[in-house]
Amino acid sequence: MNTAIIAAAGSGSRMASDRPKQFLELSGTPIIFHTLKPFEECDRIHEVIVVLPAEESAGFLSMAGKFGLRKLVKVIPGGATRVDSVKRGLMAIRSATAEIVAVHDGVRPFVTVEEIEATVSAASENGAAILVAPAVDTIKEISGGTVLRTLDRKQLRHALTPQCFRYELLRRAFENIDVNDASLTDESSLVERLGEPVTIVEGSSRNVKITTRSDVILAEALLRAEIRHD
Ligand code: C5P
Repeated sequence: MNTAIIAAAGSGSRMASDRPKQFLELSGTPIIFHTLKPFEECDRIHEVIVVLPAEESAGFLSMAGKFGLRKLVKVIPGGATRVDSVKRGLMAIRSATAEIVAVHDGVRPFVTVEEIEATVSAASENGAAILVAPAVDTIKEISGGTVLRTLDRKQLRHALTPQCFRYELLRRAFENIDVNDASLTDESSLVERLGEPVTIVEGSSRNVKITTRSDVILAEALLRAEIRHD
């Protein structure tokens, strides 16, 4: 059984809006339901757990029926940090049948079925795999107010989601971590700390994380272009 954990319990504090960004609408549908669609359609995903702010659960469940989410098995209240939220989702998986866990940001609605499949397959083969995108900007390592060094762009990737792992490996990676440690910004970093290899799957930079108001405007434009090409 392969399970997707959709982390959607953020408060959207960088958005300056009343609602968390995952509930803002794109073309009339809340972002979280756009995000869930390719997981519904992906044959390599068998069940979906959504982690939400506690106060959003009731409204979400009533809408979930309307969107026909057959794979949705649990809605879990999130924690103070992303890793805390993912840990709560992970604890809700039945260990007896668990194989691959795919962790995905609730605010990345443009991931494709093919990208999910490829990342799950790579994790099945190698234990851990994450979707990445090329670094388009030149990235500087800084210290205080000055540049320390320029990193080789060809060797750099943006870490996207899904990030997929064999269940036992991810459980081990979450043991003995401080869920309030702000430096733990993704699951891959937890697995890296164990010294285990994480395979990369080259993905598209269209798989953006909607974080700010301007991301919402960009996402609307991407969605309109997609609908035109369908
Ligand atoms: O914080 P960041 O922008 O990296 O959030 C990425 C994803 O993690 C978002 O989908 C957000 O809803 C989720 N998140 C969460 N629980 C938190 C903080 C963020 O599920 N406490």
